[in-house]
Amino acid sequence: MLNNRDFTLNKYKKLCEAISNSGYENITIAEYLKHKSVSNKVILVRHDVDENARFALDMAEVESDYGIKATYYFRTRKRVFIPEIMDKIASYHHEIGYHYETLDKARGDIGSAIRLFSDELAAFRERYDVKTVCMHGNPLSKHDNRTIWKKCRLSDFGLLGEPYISLDYDRFAYFSDSGRTWDINKNKIKDTIERSHPSDCVHNSDELINLIKRGNLRDICILAHPERWPKTDRDYCCRYFVDLMYNLGKWILVKSRKNNNDETRGSV
Ligand SMILES: [Zn+2]
Repeated sequence: MLNNRDFTLNKYKKLCEAISNSGYENITIAEYLKHKSVSNKVILVRHDVDENARFALDMAEVESDYGIKATYYFRTRKRVFIPEIMDKIASYHHEIGYHYETLDKARGDIGSAIRLFSDELAAFRERYDVKTVCMHGNPLSKHDNRTIWKKCRLSDFGLLGEPYISLDYDRFAYFSDSGRTWDINKNKIKDTIERSHPSDCVHNSDELINLIKRGNLRDICILAHPERWPKTDRDYCCRYFVDLMYNLGKWILVKSRKNNNDETRGSV
């Protein structure tokens, strides 16, 4: 029973095994955006490294054991931007990308946000050939970091793309572990995508694994946050508690925003 817990590194191994044995082709996001004319169905595996690079390294090693190439987006925070760990991850042929949040940092000033984006991207490029970037979505911030792309283009920075902007989600089935659930309609505030296709609903990793094994779906993009998939019981308990608090916070936030909107509408 305990060995079958969801959101553990052990469960993630099962997911990797399923991807590795599937008929899908697994490539990085940069490789996909460069060629796009891939003839096989593809699985893109994306990781947003939000809090601690140590968990990303554990995940990268597991993927490497199964011959999987993923794309890791790192924030510039102290416990995340750790070149020794990022070098190791890059050595497994994973893609290194930049997880930007400059509009949050610039408190909504787009000009400053773009300048900061350029500086932070340059710091990444001192070591890595960064071809794709991905926004960080802080549920507490009122800003959407993607707004900077209204004032400049990804190509201005020599970038191939941004997963939220550059992937066609009519073509890709999108599965994200945000909010500690694969259900796209639950516990997600900023991690949302626009698509006309009805959501492909899975509730846990076993269901996702079975779906990959069946191989009926079109292309797939998976987002997993490494901190959510720890290998020790201690880290599992810590993360379980953190996610519980986050989800409670998100629930309160959504309720209060809804009440504010209702009040505004009522006063018109
Ligand atoms: Zn993030």
